[in-house]
Amino acid sequence: MKKKRPGNPFMSSGPRNLFIATIILVGSLAILYRLTDYSRHIQSIAYSTFLDKVERSQVKHVQIAGSEIYGVLKDGSRFETIAPAHPQEWNFLRSHQVEFSIGGQAGQLSIWYILPLISVLIALAALWYVMRQARGSNNSNSGGGNIFSMGKSRARLFMPSTIKETFNSVAGAAEAKEELQDVVDFLKNPEKYERLGAKMTRGVLLVGAPGNGKTLLARAVAGEANCPFFSVSGSDFIEVFVGVGAARVRDLFAQARKYSPSIIFIDEIDAIGRQRTGGIGGGHEERDQTLNQLLTEMDGFQTTGGSVIVIAATNRADVLDIALLRPGRFDKRVEVPYPDLASREEILGVHARSVKIATDVDLKKIARGTPGFSGADLANLINEAAIIASKNNQAEVTTKDFEEARDKVLLGKEIKTIALTEEDRKITSYHEAGHALVRLLVPEHTDPLHKVTIIPRGRALGVTHSLPEREKYTTTKEEMLASIAAALGGRAAEELVFGIETTGAYSDLVAATEIARKMVCLYGMSYLGPIIYTQRHGEFEYSERTAEKIDEAVYRIMEDSAKRARDLLDAHRDKLDALAQALLERETMFASEIYELLGIEPRVEHRF
Ligand code: ADP
Ligand code: ZN
Repeated sequence: MKKKRPGNPFMSSGPRNLFIATIILVGSLAILYRLTDYSRHIQSIAYSTFLDKVERSQVKHVQIAGSEIYGVLKDGSRFETIAPAHPQEWNFLRSHQVEFSIGGQAGQLSIWYILPLISVLIALAALWYVMRQARGSNNSNSGGGNIFSMGKSRARLFMPSTIKETFNSVAGAAEAKEELQDVVDFLKNPEKYERLGAKMTRGVLLVGAPGNGKTLLARAVAGEANCPFFSVSGSDFIEVFVGVGAARVRDLFAQARKYSPSIIFIDEIDAIGRQRTGGIGGGHEERDQTLNQLLTEMDGFQTTGGSVIVIAATNRADVLDIALLRPGRFDKRVEVPYPDLASREEILGVHARSVKIATDVDLKKIARGTPGFSGADLANLINEAAIIASKNNQAEVTTKDFEEARDKVLLGKEIKTIALTEEDRKITSYHEAGHALVRLLVPEHTDPLHKVTIIPRGRALGVTHSLPEREKYTTTKEEMLASIAAALGGRAAEELVFGIETTGAYSDLVAATEIARKMVCLYGMSYLGPIIYTQRHGEFEYSERTAEKIDEAVYRIMEDSAKRARDLLDAHRDKLDALAQALLERETMFASEIYELLGIEPRVEHRF
């Protein structure tokens, strides 16, 4: 229970009077506002009534702001209604001679709109004043309704009946959906897991660039599991007042437990989840407290029960505090990448359902022409095309409209995201094909191929994924050399095919050099012999002459491996071309597809 501390600033008369005065002021203004609202006779009508009125040509003018429609009838009376904002209805309005405008201020900017605003500003100022007073004597844990509702969570609660999204609403993203299926199962039937004492994942981190469906996926999990969904953004917790964010976290989890099984979705977790500062100096005390509270709540899951799943989204997993990623916290990480060709076509398909599209429109072709587009970009593309068609009074959206819309969306994207040029894509395809092929051609057991993609993820252009084949206790010299060759295969392919060296190979070089240096210095796997050369406390344990020799040994391993990769690719140029071409077309290929394409026997995969 809350304790009333002696000397609590709320009890002192100055700020308290100010507070009461503000409440009265705001209250009376609000009443006045409502009254004038009625005197202006703005009638709320059903959307269907609105459509009827349009059809009977009773509507003179409407103003559309988001999903709100304000309008004037021909007899001068005013009305408002709420509608799913949709460009299709614009044609309908036009065909009934209704003047309409979109966006901007709903209604006129009258004194009646400004007054409440001013009073709110006054109220905020008063609040700020009181809070500042409060901090003096009570600066820890001043939450939980203690200071008005500052400590209340800002999360929006969606009950299951209002969540329409399911996994079917999410196009593509097959891997992400598969990984989230566990979470859905748990939420549907928590007792089943808890009975056996299974420790379930309680935190899922969705990682990917904006607009690729992280929020959509989280809502779909709620939709699938038919459970309440609390949605909040990391920045909603951040407040200048120390303790407020922590209080909001506590309040949020308390609420979520009440509604359990439930989901908490924290968008932009990096706003609170950044590496902690340690609390000395700096202005990050508030954020650190908020993060600590989040960690405490998540740790409490195991003991206090309540089947709450926390799904967090970020585009910057690299800046997160590692404490967040420990077991029991966000220990499940799901990548939400830019959609590949097939996924883009699916996403276009989902969003095209709500517009009328001409039969000549080929969604596959549009998908082909939109590499680097996010899911949101594609949704936007369809919408823009529909707007263009509406403006031209067309009955259907045509291919031409899509082309125009594509340019418009691209213009908006500029260089914010990586919309690759055709040349870039070709080089990336060869680069990734080079990695994959060397991995397949070397006789040693490198980690087997999982999938290859030229879809940008994070800052890397393409990725060749391999999965560790078995729990490895030892690695042979040959295996290490093979890994180095595979890492250098990307650049080798670029050199071989285009005669160029690009910066794309940077992280490959870092990885390869690291392995080579370990071979020389730690494992005695070079001509320098079985000696360990280590660095301790920044002091070299070896002479400068030895350092030169080490560099030379590392250099030789790298040079030999680079040559090996080049020779392998040169000897199998036909395979390299075939794989690069296939990647260019399909963008993502799984190992089995690559084996099939190249006619290579897959290696026997070891299971532990
Ligand atoms: P994020 O949370 O990753 O920034 P959102 O989930 O908010 O992205 O996606 C924005 C919009 O883009 C969605 O509301 C949806 O219209 C569209 N979208 C993104 N990804 C997909 C997808 N895989 N399938 C269908 N629509 C998608
Ligand atoms: Zn590479």
